[in-house]
Amino acid sequence: MTVTSVYQQLRSNLAYLHLEAASEALAAELDHATKEKLSHSAFLERLLRVEVAVTEERRLAGRRRFSCLPAPWRLEDFDFDAQPKLDRRLVEELGTLRFVEEAANVLLIGPPGVGKTHLAVALGHRAVEAGYRTYYTTAADLAARCHRAAIEGRWATTMRFFAGPGLLIVDELGYLPLAGEAAAALFQVVAQRYLKGSIVLTTNRGISQWGQMFNDDATVAAAMLDRLLHHSTVLSIDGDSYRMRAHREAVAKVRSAVNAGGAA
Ligand code: ADP
Ligand code: MG
Repeated sequence: MTVTSVYQQLRSNLAYLHLEAASEALAAELDHATKEKLSHSAFLERLLRVEVAVTEERRLAGRRRFSCLPAPWRLEDFDFDAQPKLDRRLVEELGTLRFVEEAANVLLIGPPGVGKTHLAVALGHRAVEAGYRTYYTTAADLAARCHRAAIEGRWATTMRFFAGPGLLIVDELGYLPLAGEAAAALFQVVAQRYLKGSIVLTTNRGISQWGQMFNDDATVAAAMLDRLLHHSTVLSIDGDSYRMRAHREAVAKVRSAVNAGGAA
């Protein structure tokens, strides 16, 4: 074969194997290899690295889309000084994602505005970037999805869906009491993920109030807590609301400016 036809054959082989990025980069990489007198293996390594980088990027984008994470919040943006009682080292340990590897759970408990969703979402981004399939939902959405699935005869499929991701984030449990069916759905999701996949759950209800959240079905609440808590990290955040804090600081600033103005 002539040099040109070897090149053409190589390009079409790469394209046939769906190695489009490598196919695109072939000419430039061949020139580079000739110019730098690269060994065959060094050339091949460079060429395949192009394809690997593009594939990784595409898969990451896919995991991002799938995750439905509602905000770009990062662990790095979390202001630990605003939550002095929160164990920073524990949060950073969670950030290593060992808990996902171990299929352990994380419970974030606290009043509104203290950063529960921020931390849950931040762990979600870490997991997505580390290659874990991650899915964010609110407890209300999960309940509504399961309700529709039950009506439309898709219960088993939906349950399989919620069993799939390596990390499932269930946000805002307890803002509304759960009807019997919703409680059953949540219970089944928790039960089937038990020891198989992680859940990060945020709630404004202390563990002692879980009975009420499940319409006083203390049995379901207890059974679910059992599975959630065995193998889990519980973070209680009882500090100030960050939003309220920022708000108060802004008000205080305006006040002191006004006072300074008045004194002058
Ligand atoms: P929660 O889920 O506990 O109600 P969020 O996580 O939604 O609270 O936090 C409310 C807002 O305040 C978000 O914009 C979040 O990014 C921000 N926030 C809360 N706590 C902190 C913090 N400690 N550092 C930085 N931002 C924070
Ligand atoms: Mg929240």
